[in-house]
Amino acid sequence: MSLSLALLTQDLRLHDNPVLHAAATGADAVLPVFVLDSAVERAGFAAPNRLAFLGDCLADLDASLRAVGSRLVVRRGPVAATVADLVAESGAQSVHLAAGVSGFARRREAALRERLGERLQLHRASVTALPPGAVTPAGRDHYAVFTPYLRAWLDHGHRPVLPAPRVLHTPEGVPGTEVPRARPTSPLLPTGGESTARKLWRAWDVDQYEAVHDDLAGDATSRLSPYLHFGCVSATELVDRALRRGTPGAQAFVRQLAWRDFHHQVLDARPQAARSDYRSRADRWHHDEQEAAAWREGRTGFPVVDAAMRQLAQEGWMHNRARLIAASFLCKSLYQDWRIGADHFLSLLVDGDVANNQLNWQWVAGTGTDTRPNRVLNPLVQAERFDPTGTYVRRWVPELRHVAGRAVHRPWRLTDPPAGYPAPIIPPDQTARRLREGRELDG
Ligand code: FAD
Repeated sequence: MSLSLALLTQDLRLHDNPVLHAAATGADAVLPVFVLDSAVERAGFAAPNRLAFLGDCLADLDASLRAVGSRLVVRRGPVAATVADLVAESGAQSVHLAAGVSGFARRREAALRERLGERLQLHRASVTALPPGAVTPAGRDHYAVFTPYLRAWLDHGHRPVLPAPRVLHTPEGVPGTEVPRARPTSPLLPTGGESTARKLWRAWDVDQYEAVHDDLAGDATSRLSPYLHFGCVSATELVDRALRRGTPGAQAFVRQLAWRDFHHQVLDARPQAARSDYRSRADRWHHDEQEAAAWREGRTGFPVVDAAMRQLAQEGWMHNRARLIAASFLCKSLYQDWRIGADHFLSLLVDGDVANNQLNWQWVAGTGTDTRPNRVLNPLVQAERFDPTGTYVRRWVPELRHVAGRAVHRPWRLTDPPAGYPAPIIPPDQTARRLREGRELDG
């Protein structure tokens, strides 16, 4: 009897899973495996919020696999050695794995290749809808600007969506450890897993997306990002469904999924952009640990920034508009290094992802792919535009709960300023005061 090992990483799902599909169609039996790799912890990626979410994902995946006659084997250890041991133990003839784009994923692939040789089969278009490098501009290895990328990405089309397996045969006698359970940092962390992701998608109104995606208080985006990060739902399947729907809302949603692919193809071509400026502008960042701490803790005295940072602490997630405002405040208003912000986000975000996080930070900081790198998001203008009634601020900043309407965005103007809420850490009319000399402000 032939046996394939499906090494699951960022594809913790049954539906539209190229790794599981190839492993199942290429052999009589499949061994689905997840390795808790000690190198992830050493690299600092094992934030408690993501570990807790991962525990849910693995438990859900195991339950779904058991429903089709299989199960998930979880092992702990260095991934290449652990998989090589499993291959020897089980007699598997091939190992299937989704190709990744981060430096970590590449090192993992190289280590596995060294031990397994031709038995390792990599599957692209598993983590992203379109594999990095599938579309490139003439003479270049990746797109540096989003709009032409989007056009090429849409023209190229995506692979067909694969069905979930109905039955899987998995050999007995290959033991694993218990699914790990971690305590999250954030008390309101969402529950992980493919079942929850599919329920969320079914309950969510994609048609509304274009009209409401920037409304901070409305909170009406899909909230699928952590599920996409762990692969509880496939980007290809979401793109396919949204394109078939074809409404303006669905098209706007597809565009966001293309942003995700865009950042992945940038990181794939420039892995060093995880830590270094993609386009250096010779910034001499301002250092002030007290200001950085006030930003992290949501005590800047700018209510919309503080609301954003407290949402992150409470939920391990933040609305996209809030991420833009909070990140711009750190990099442009306080003129602090984007890496300080990116590290803090990665320590808490349940969807924390090297490609999306680092490259969005660079986009905001003006060192990345934004074609208007001098753009500054004025937090007061943004607050009044995207939280016009102040509801988002009151939701996350309890000291300001009694302040009615949009006045909540400028508490320093109140005749009776709320007790316990800090004064602005920089003058409100100088939110771009430290922007490097010579950079014009254009937004
Ligand atoms: P929706 O609005 O419903 O969008 C659907 C999906 O499209 C998202 O789940 C996400 O996978 C993708 N998407 C949307 N916007 C972007 C974008 N700008 N870049 C890349 N993909 C996008 N997203 C992450 O997944 N992980 C991160 O670590 C991350 N860090 C960020 C840091 C900063 C400073 C900024 C400005 C944005 C960051 N984003 C990150 C992108 C975006 O904010 C989140 O993907 C989005 O808020 C998730 O909410 P949602 O699932 O409801 O998104």
